[in-house]
Amino acid sequence: MCILSLMPHVIVSPCIGVKDQACTEVCPVECIYDGGDQFLIHPDECIDCGACVPACPVSAIFPEEDVPGGEESFIEKNRVHFGL
Ligand code: SF4
Repeated sequence: MCILSLMPHVIVSPCIGVKDQACTEVCPVECIYDGGDQFLIHPDECIDCGACVPACPVSAIFPEEDVPGGEESFIEKNRVHFGL
């Protein structure tokens, strides 16, 4: 059994300074938190439903495996914020 901590969805740079909150309104498990300059998704709480992706007006949310090139540092930013 895999015990690695997975991070299904990640919020990247377009959220910075925008923080529209549309994602927080559609997330069924309320796992999107205010991370200061942007919103961040709790890796252990996200159920990978994908509802937040089309809700984001600046297309800032991606499954971890689809995070655009140059935005990879946000994967670690999410982990560190939640102490993972
Ligand atoms: Fe919430 Fe679903 Fe987005 Fe995960 S993928 S942050 S559970 S809306």
